[in-house]
Amino acid sequence: MKNLVIIGASFSGLNLAKILHKDFKIKIISLDKYPYKKNLLLEFLKGNLKSKDLLFEKEYFELDGVDFILGRKVIKINPVRKDVFLEDKKYIKFDYLVIASGSSPQYISCPGIHKRGVASIYTLEDVKYIKDMYDICSHPVVFLRTCLGVSLLNWCIEKEKEFKVIVSSSYLSLLGEELSKNLESSGKLIVSGIKEIIGNGDVKAVRLESDKIIACDLLIVDTGLKPNLSCLRNSGIEYEDYLKVDDYFRTNFEYIFGIGDVINKNLINLTNFSNCMQNITPQIQQLSSYLSKST
Ligand SMILES: Cc1cc2nc3c(=O)[nH]c(=O)nc-3n(C[C@H](O)[C@H](O)[C@H](O)COP(=O)(O)OP(=O)(O)OC[C@H]3O[C@@H](n4cnc5c(N)ncnc54)[C@H](O)[C@@H]3O)c2cc1C
Repeated sequence: MKNLVIIGASFSGLNLAKILHKDFKIKIISLDKYPYKKNLLLEFLKGNLKSKDLLFEKEYFELDGVDFILGRKVIKINPVRKDVFLEDKKYIKFDYLVIASGSSPQYISCPGIHKRGVASIYTLEDVKYIKDMYDICSHPVVFLRTCLGVSLLNWCIEKEKEFKVIVSSSYLSLLGEELSKNLESSGKLIVSGIKEIIGNGDVKAVRLESDKIIACDLLIVDTGLKPNLSCLRNSGIEYEDYLKVDDYFRTNFEYIFGIGDVINKNLINLTNFSNCMQNITPQIQQLSSYLSKST
Protein backbone atom coordinates (compact mmCIF):
# COMPACT_ATOMS: atom_id res chain seq x y z
CA MET A 1 0.00 0.00 0.00
CA LYS A 2 1.20 3.52 -0.79
CA ASN A 3 1.85 6.06 1.97
CA LEU A 4 -0.45 9.05 2.11
CA VAL A 5 0.51 11.85 4.49
CA ILE A 6 -2.11 14.49 5.32
CA ILE A 7 -1.11 17.78 6.98
CA GLY A 8 -4.12 18.90 9.03
CA ALA A 9 -6.60 16.92 11.14
CA SER A 10 -9.66 19.08 10.83
CA PHE A 11 -12.71 19.17 8.56
CA SER A 12 -10.73 18.59 5.32
CA GLY A 13 -8.03 16.18 6.52
CA LEU A 14 -10.20 14.01 8.75
CA ASN A 15 -12.98 13.59 6.20
CA LEU A 16 -10.47 12.72 3.48
CA ALA A 17 -8.83 10.10 5.72
CA LYS A 18 -12.25 8.63 6.50
CA ILE A 19 -12.88 7.96 2.81
CA LEU A 20 -9.37 6.79 1.86
CA HIS A 21 -8.27 4.73 4.86
CA LYS A 22 -8.78 1.41 3.06
CA ASP A 23 -6.77 2.47 0.00
CA PHE A 24 -3.68 3.96 1.65
CA LYS A 25 -1.50 3.75 4.72
CA ILE A 26 -2.32 7.16 6.11
CA LYS A 27 -0.41 9.40 8.50
CA ILE A 28 -2.26 12.53 9.55
CA ILE A 29 -0.38 15.33 11.28
CA SER A 30 -1.91 18.15 13.25
CA LEU A 31 -0.72 21.07 15.26
CA ASP A 32 -3.78 20.69 17.47
CA LYS A 33 -3.46 17.98 20.07
CA TYR A 34 -7.24 17.78 20.25
CA PRO A 35 -8.64 18.72 16.83
CA TYR A 36 -11.87 20.69 17.15
CA LYS A 37 -14.62 22.10 14.95
CA LYS A 38 -13.88 25.78 14.45
CA ASN A 39 -17.33 26.46 13.06
CA LEU A 40 -18.77 25.86 16.56
CA LEU A 41 -16.54 28.35 18.37
CA LEU A 42 -19.20 31.04 18.69
CA GLU A 43 -21.71 28.57 20.11
CA PHE A 44 -19.07 27.69 22.71
CA LEU A 45 -18.52 31.38 23.46
CA LYS A 46 -22.27 31.88 23.93
CA GLY A 47 -22.33 28.98 26.39
CA ASN A 48 -24.54 26.79 24.16
CA LEU A 49 -21.79 24.13 23.90
CA LYS A 50 -19.04 22.87 26.18
CA SER A 51 -15.46 22.62 24.86
CA LYS A 52 -15.76 18.81 24.63
CA ASP A 53 -18.72 19.24 22.25
CA LEU A 54 -16.36 20.91 19.77
CA LEU A 55 -14.10 17.87 19.45
CA PHE A 56 -14.35 15.74 16.31
CA GLU A 57 -16.19 12.46 16.92
CA LYS A 58 -14.23 9.42 18.17
CA GLU A 59 -14.97 7.46 14.99
CA TYR A 60 -12.52 9.66 13.04
CA PHE A 61 -9.67 8.55 15.30
CA GLU A 62 -10.47 4.84 15.27
CA LEU A 63 -10.06 4.22 11.53
CA ASP A 64 -7.95 1.20 10.57
CA GLY A 65 -4.82 2.12 8.68
CA VAL A 66 -4.63 5.69 9.97
CA ASP A 67 -1.85 6.88 12.30
CA PHE A 68 -2.34 10.18 14.08
CA ILE A 69 0.55 12.48 14.87
CA LEU A 70 -1.18 15.13 16.96
CA GLY A 71 0.21 18.22 18.66
CA ARG A 72 3.13 18.36 16.21
CA LYS A 73 4.04 20.98 13.62
CA VAL A 74 5.25 20.40 10.06
CA ILE A 75 7.93 23.01 9.46
CA LYS A 76 9.25 21.95 6.07
CA ILE A 77 8.32 19.88 3.04
CA ASN A 78 10.84 18.39 0.63
CA PRO A 79 8.85 17.51 -2.50
CA VAL A 80 11.83 15.94 -4.26
CA ARG A 81 12.86 13.60 -1.42
CA LYS A 82 9.14 13.17 -0.63
CA ASP A 83 9.28 13.84 3.06
CA VAL A 84 7.87 16.26 5.59
CA PHE A 85 9.98 17.54 8.45
CA LEU A 86 8.50 18.00 11.93
CA GLU A 87 9.49 20.54 14.54
CA ASP A 88 11.05 17.76 16.65
CA LYS A 89 13.42 16.93 13.75
CA LYS A 90 11.53 13.79 12.66
CA TYR A 91 11.06 13.07 8.94
CA ILE A 92 7.97 11.39 7.57
CA LYS A 93 8.10 9.83 4.10
CA PHE A 94 5.21 10.00 1.67
CA ASP A 95 4.21 8.73 -1.76
CA TYR A 96 1.33 11.21 -1.82
CA LEU A 97 0.92 14.32 0.30
CA VAL A 98 -2.26 16.30 0.95
CA ILE A 99 -1.88 19.77 2.45
CA ALA A 100 -5.04 20.53 4.44
CA SER A 101 -3.38 22.98 6.82
CA GLY A 102 -6.39 25.32 6.85
CA SER A 103 -6.30 28.84 8.18
CA SER A 104 -5.40 31.01 11.17
CA PRO A 105 -6.54 34.41 12.38
CA GLN A 106 -5.41 37.30 10.28
CA TYR A 107 -4.22 40.20 12.44
CA ILE A 108 -3.98 43.85 11.48
CA SER A 109 -0.41 45.07 11.23
CA CYS A 110 -0.31 47.84 13.78
CA PRO A 111 2.13 48.46 16.63
CA GLY A 112 1.19 46.59 19.80
CA ILE A 113 -0.91 43.88 18.17
CA HIS A 114 0.95 41.14 20.11
CA LYS A 115 0.30 42.61 23.55
CA ARG A 116 -1.46 40.55 26.22
CA GLY A 117 -5.16 41.26 26.13
CA VAL A 118 -5.49 41.10 22.32
CA ALA A 119 -7.48 38.05 21.18
CA SER A 120 -9.09 36.78 18.01
CA ILE A 121 -12.35 34.82 17.87
CA TYR A 122 -10.90 32.16 15.55
CA THR A 123 -9.10 29.73 17.90
CA LEU A 124 -10.33 27.75 20.90
CA GLU A 125 -7.52 29.17 23.01
CA ASP A 126 -8.57 32.75 22.23
CA VAL A 127 -12.27 32.11 22.72
CA LYS A 128 -11.60 30.50 26.13
CA TYR A 129 -9.50 33.57 26.99
CA ILE A 130 -12.31 35.95 25.95
CA LYS A 131 -14.84 33.98 28.03
CA ASP A 132 -12.60 34.25 31.12
CA MET A 133 -11.53 37.86 30.60
CA TYR A 134 -14.79 39.46 29.53
CA ASP A 135 -16.37 39.29 32.99
CA ILE A 136 -13.35 40.75 34.79
CA CYS A 137 -12.18 43.40 32.31
CA SER A 138 -13.38 46.99 32.55
CA HIS A 139 -13.05 48.32 28.99
CA PRO A 140 -13.66 45.64 26.35
CA VAL A 141 -13.34 46.76 22.73
CA VAL A 142 -14.27 44.82 19.58
CA PHE A 143 -12.54 45.65 16.30
CA LEU A 144 -14.82 44.25 13.64
CA ARG A 145 -14.45 43.26 9.99
CA THR A 146 -16.55 40.08 9.56
CA CYS A 147 -20.01 38.68 10.28
CA LEU A 148 -18.61 36.68 13.19
CA GLY A 149 -17.80 39.95 14.92
CA VAL A 150 -21.43 40.97 14.48
CA SER A 151 -22.55 37.76 16.27
CA LEU A 152 -20.01 38.51 18.96
CA LEU A 153 -21.52 42.01 19.41
CA ASN A 154 -24.91 40.45 20.12
CA TRP A 155 -23.22 38.38 22.83
CA CYS A 156 -21.60 41.55 24.25
CA ILE A 157 -24.98 43.30 24.30
CA GLU A 158 -26.54 40.37 26.22
CA LYS A 159 -23.71 40.58 28.76
CA GLU A 160 -24.97 44.06 29.69
CA LYS A 161 -21.49 45.46 30.20
CA GLU A 162 -20.17 48.73 28.80
CA PHE A 163 -18.14 48.04 25.61
CA LYS A 164 -17.02 49.83 22.46
CA VAL A 165 -16.94 48.62 18.89
CA ILE A 166 -14.50 50.00 16.32
CA VAL A 167 -15.38 49.55 12.65
CA SER A 168 -13.67 51.04 9.59
CA SER A 169 -16.13 52.89 7.36
CA SER A 170 -15.70 50.28 4.59
CA TYR A 171 -17.03 47.52 6.89
CA LEU A 172 -19.84 49.53 8.51
CA SER A 173 -22.51 47.91 6.32
CA LEU A 174 -21.85 44.56 8.07
CA LEU A 175 -23.65 45.89 11.13
CA GLY A 176 -26.94 46.54 9.34
CA GLU A 177 -29.06 49.64 9.91
CA GLU A 178 -30.75 48.69 13.19
CA LEU A 179 -27.65 47.51 15.04
CA SER A 180 -25.67 50.54 13.76
CA LYS A 181 -28.35 52.90 15.09
CA ASN A 182 -28.52 51.13 18.46
CA LEU A 183 -24.75 51.16 18.90
CA GLU A 184 -24.49 54.77 17.80
CA SER A 185 -27.27 56.03 20.05
CA SER A 186 -25.72 54.28 23.06
CA GLY A 187 -22.29 55.81 22.30
CA LYS A 188 -20.69 52.42 21.66
CA LEU A 189 -19.86 52.79 17.96
CA ILE A 190 -16.56 54.26 16.76
CA VAL A 191 -16.03 54.49 12.99
CA SER A 192 -12.26 54.37 12.54
CA GLY A 193 -9.22 52.20 12.00
CA ILE A 194 -6.70 51.44 14.77
CA LYS A 195 -3.32 53.20 14.65
CA GLU A 196 -1.67 51.73 17.74
CA ILE A 197 -2.33 49.42 20.66
CA ILE A 198 -0.95 51.06 23.78
CA GLY A 199 0.29 49.39 26.97
CA ASN A 200 3.32 48.02 28.72
CA GLY A 201 2.99 44.29 28.06
CA ASP A 202 -0.78 44.37 28.68
CA VAL A 203 -3.20 46.39 26.55
CA LYS A 204 -4.21 49.60 28.25
CA ALA A 205 -5.66 51.69 25.41
CA VAL A 206 -6.14 51.99 21.66
CA ARG A 207 -5.06 54.95 19.53
CA LEU A 208 -7.54 55.66 16.73
CA GLU A 209 -6.70 57.10 13.30
CA SER A 210 -7.64 60.57 14.62
CA ASP A 211 -5.01 60.09 17.41
CA LYS A 212 -7.83 59.98 19.95
CA ILE A 213 -7.08 57.41 22.66
CA ILE A 214 -9.73 55.16 24.16
CA ALA A 215 -9.33 52.94 27.23
CA CYS A 216 -9.15 49.22 26.50
CA ASP A 217 -8.08 46.21 28.57
CA LEU A 218 -9.47 43.50 26.26
CA LEU A 219 -9.26 43.98 22.49
CA ILE A 220 -11.17 41.39 20.46
CA VAL A 221 -9.86 41.48 16.92
CA ASP A 222 -12.19 40.11 14.27
CA THR A 223 -10.20 40.66 11.08
CA GLY A 224 -10.79 37.33 9.34
CA LEU A 225 -8.71 34.32 8.39
CA LYS A 226 -5.66 33.62 6.23
CA PRO A 227 -4.38 30.31 4.77
CA ASN A 228 -1.63 28.51 6.76
CA LEU A 229 1.30 28.44 4.36
CA SER A 230 4.36 28.59 6.61
CA CYS A 231 5.39 24.94 6.05
CA LEU A 232 5.61 25.60 2.29
CA ARG A 233 8.40 28.19 2.54
CA ASN A 234 11.39 27.36 0.31
CA SER A 235 9.80 24.03 -0.69
CA GLY A 236 9.31 24.87 -4.35
CA ILE A 237 5.55 24.25 -3.96
CA GLU A 238 3.87 27.23 -5.58
CA TYR A 239 1.68 29.52 -3.50
CA GLU A 240 0.58 33.15 -3.32
CA ASP A 241 -1.73 34.22 -0.47
CA TYR A 242 -3.15 30.69 -0.82
CA LEU A 243 -1.88 27.30 -2.02
CA LYS A 244 -2.15 27.06 -5.81
CA VAL A 245 -3.83 23.90 -7.17
CA ASP A 246 -5.31 22.79 -10.50
CA ASP A 247 -8.75 21.30 -11.18
CA TYR A 248 -7.61 17.99 -9.65
CA PHE A 249 -6.32 19.76 -6.51
CA ARG A 250 -2.73 19.05 -7.58
CA THR A 251 -0.01 21.52 -6.75
CA ASN A 252 2.89 22.01 -9.18
CA PHE A 253 4.05 18.56 -7.94
CA GLU A 254 1.63 15.94 -9.26
CA TYR A 255 1.78 13.82 -6.08
CA ILE A 256 1.18 16.78 -3.73
CA PHE A 257 -2.37 18.11 -3.32
CA GLY A 258 -4.22 20.80 -1.40
CA ILE A 259 -7.81 21.10 -0.18
CA GLY A 260 -9.83 23.22 2.24
CA ASP A 261 -9.21 26.70 3.59
CA VAL A 262 -5.54 26.58 2.54
CA ILE A 263 -6.50 26.75 -1.17
CA ASN A 264 -9.25 29.36 -0.72
CA LYS A 265 -8.04 32.36 -2.73
CA ASN A 266 -10.84 34.58 -1.38
CA LEU A 267 -10.28 33.74 2.28
CA ILE A 268 -8.35 36.86 3.25
CA ASN A 269 -11.11 39.13 1.97
CA LEU A 270 -13.99 36.98 3.20
CA THR A 271 -16.35 38.59 5.70
CA ASN A 272 -18.80 35.68 5.97
CA PHE A 273 -17.62 32.10 6.60
CA SER A 274 -20.99 30.37 6.58
CA ASN A 275 -20.41 28.52 3.28
CA CYS A 276 -16.77 27.51 3.65
CA MET A 277 -17.37 23.88 4.64
CA GLN A 278 -20.09 23.46 2.03
CA ASN A 279 -17.49 24.42 -0.58
CA ILE A 280 -14.89 22.02 0.85
CA THR A 281 -17.13 18.91 0.77
CA PRO A 282 -16.99 18.49 -3.06
CA GLN A 283 -13.19 19.01 -2.90
CA ILE A 284 -12.90 16.08 -0.49
CA GLN A 285 -15.09 13.92 -2.73
CA GLN A 286 -13.25 14.77 -5.95
CA LEU A 287 -9.78 14.37 -4.48
CA SER A 288 -10.61 11.06 -2.78
CA SER A 289 -11.99 9.66 -6.01
CA TYR A 290 -8.89 10.86 -7.95
CA LEU A 291 -6.51 9.39 -5.36
CA SER A 292 -8.32 6.06 -5.00
CA LYS A 293 -8.04 5.59 -8.79
CA SER A 294 -4.31 6.16 -8.60
CA THR A 295 -3.64 3.28 -6.16
C1 LIG B 1 -15.16 31.09 14.34
C2 LIG B 1 -15.39 30.40 13.05
C3 LIG B 1 -16.70 30.11 12.65
C4 LIG B 1 -16.94 29.45 11.44
N1 LIG B 1 -18.23 29.17 11.08
C5 LIG B 1 -18.46 28.46 9.95
C6 LIG B 1 -19.78 28.09 9.57
O1 LIG B 1 -20.74 28.41 10.26
N2 LIG B 1 -19.95 27.38 8.42
C7 LIG B 1 -18.89 27.01 7.63
O2 LIG B 1 -19.09 26.38 6.59
N3 LIG B 1 -17.63 27.36 7.97
C8 LIG B 1 -17.38 28.06 9.10
N4 LIG B 1 -16.11 28.40 9.43
C9 LIG B 1 -15.01 28.00 8.54
C10 LIG B 1 -14.65 26.54 8.76
O3 LIG B 1 -14.42 26.30 10.14
C11 LIG B 1 -13.41 26.23 7.93
O4 LIG B 1 -13.74 26.44 6.56
C12 LIG B 1 -12.94 24.81 8.13
O5 LIG B 1 -12.58 24.57 9.48
C13 LIG B 1 -11.75 24.55 7.22
O6 LIG B 1 -11.29 23.26 7.45
P1 LIG B 1 -9.81 22.85 7.06
O7 LIG B 1 -9.68 21.43 7.50
O8 LIG B 1 -9.54 23.18 5.64
O9 LIG B 1 -8.85 23.78 7.94
P2 LIG B 1 -8.77 24.03 9.51
O10 LIG B 1 -10.07 23.72 10.17
O11 LIG B 1 -8.19 25.37 9.66
O12 LIG B 1 -7.71 22.93 10.03
C14 LIG B 1 -6.36 23.00 9.69
C15 LIG B 1 -5.62 21.85 10.33
O13 LIG B 1 -4.24 21.91 9.92
C16 LIG B 1 -3.40 21.84 11.06
N5 LIG B 1 -2.14 22.56 10.75
C17 LIG B 1 -1.99 23.81 10.27
N6 LIG B 1 -0.69 24.09 10.05
C18 LIG B 1 -0.01 22.96 10.41
C19 LIG B 1 1.36 22.61 10.44
N7 LIG B 1 2.32 23.45 10.03
N8 LIG B 1 1.71 21.37 10.90
C20 LIG B 1 0.77 20.49 11.32
N9 LIG B 1 -0.56 20.76 11.30
C21 LIG B 1 -0.94 21.98 10.86
C22 LIG B 1 -4.22 22.45 12.19
O14 LIG B 1 -3.73 21.99 13.44
C23 LIG B 1 -5.60 21.87 11.85
O15 LIG B 1 -5.68 20.53 12.31
C24 LIG B 1 -15.85 29.07 10.62
C25 LIG B 1 -14.54 29.36 11.01
C26 LIG B 1 -14.31 30.01 12.22
C27 LIG B 1 -12.90 30.30 12.64
